[in-house]
Amino acid sequence: MQGDNDQLASFWMPFTANRSYKAHPRQLVAASGMYYQSGDGRRILDGTSGLWCSNAGHCRPEIAEAIAKAAKTLDFAPTFQLGHPLPFELAQRLAALMPEGLDRIFFTNSGSESVDTALKIALAVQRAKGQGTRTRLIGRERGYHGVGFGGISVGGIVSNRRTWPGLPGTDHLRHTHDLARNAFTRGFPAHGAELADDLQRLVDLHGAETIAAVIVEPMAGSTGVLIPPAGYLQRLREICDRHGIILIFDEVITAFGRVGAATAAEAWGVTPDIITMAKGLTNAAVPMGAVAVKRDLHDAVIESVPGGIELFHGYTYSGHPLASAAGLATLDLYAREGLFERANELAGYWEDAAHSLKGRRHIIDIRTIGLVAGIELEPRPGAPTARAMELFHAAFDSGLLVRATGDIIALSPPLIVEKAEIDAMFGQLAELLDRID
Ligand code: PLP
Repeated sequence: MQGDNDQLASFWMPFTANRSYKAHPRQLVAASGMYYQSGDGRRILDGTSGLWCSNAGHCRPEIAEAIAKAAKTLDFAPTFQLGHPLPFELAQRLAALMPEGLDRIFFTNSGSESVDTALKIALAVQRAKGQGTRTRLIGRERGYHGVGFGGISVGGIVSNRRTWPGLPGTDHLRHTHDLARNAFTRGFPAHGAELADDLQRLVDLHGAETIAAVIVEPMAGSTGVLIPPAGYLQRLREICDRHGIILIFDEVITAFGRVGAATAAEAWGVTPDIITMAKGLTNAAVPMGAVAVKRDLHDAVIESVPGGIELFHGYTYSGHPLASAAGLATLDLYAREGLFERANELAGYWEDAAHSLKGRRHIIDIRTIGLVAGIELEPRPGAPTARAMELFHAAFDSGLLVRATGDIIALSPPLIVEKAEIDAMFGQLAELLDRID
């Protein structure tokens, strides 16, 4: 495979430096539990649950068997004006895991689709409630909400936005990252709750009657583990309540145990009106996303039309049998093995291990919550992001998968991780940090 460009040319890889990858390909060919196997036969310890998604570890037989059974029983059935049992069952199970009241579930196939679905539902709810002037959608700088036109419009990553026109009538809160005040925080940073008042400023600027919804990741993952300041999410909730704004939490990476409960909303005691999910829902074995909606919001839309289709939105594969089967098997696994609780129990050990790197070369911040760590490196002069990318490559070559985003190394291992594996991850990173310039 190495260097054989003809074999690699056809696949236009997503979010990848295609030329650089194809010049030096690094392939994964198998996986089991905490480990991948590389194309050259090495074991790679998975420090990132793939892409924040295989929370129960890889190739779990229970999930594989459920998918195989579904494929042999009912490979596909439409969910437009017809149904089959699995998504009804999964929706009920998922509703029971959501914070009180969010018990209506719409299925999608990805995080991006979940986000665009949630934004559309928010607009439909406002319209159903006679608030049709509320069309403005608010996101946050450094937010990542996938790659649909809705998601990039409320997202806050310039490279994901600059090439394409965004939706009209969006605006953004400032991000909450503040190294000067919050470096080396364990858990919630102490400073920055007042940044939630940006929402009040946007209300004052645009008028509440123009604003439909605000969407935030409770913890921003893709732009490098930005943990909400203590009190920030509570303050956003209060401002939304005051002004009739729908609060959406994008929990595509925080749901399913990452921060020690089924959702960050539950773990951190702030209940939004809508939650988006994907990734851990099926342990990533089959693509699937979901949107949980408060029942009264759902009912407002359903009851707003006298008959016929209430929401003109859906995907051919909404509630696909294989994905639904994988979702049910995954939720069983999480419950049977107590993986959300396990993440919570391990969080202290994880935090100590991560913060033990403090003082190593290049590190300007370490931040942790649940089973997540962000390690921020000083950018190389004149070459931002190069140091983290080099570390990512060096880690892979020495048997550890980490994620590099900007100058930040993000870690989010499967929730089945053992203490010895946590030690191995941070031990290896310590050595690599000494080695790279
Ligand atoms: N929202 C958040 C918070 C994410 O982290 C991601 C992906 O990482 C997405 C949305 C997009 O999900 P997908 O890549 O499945 O479309």
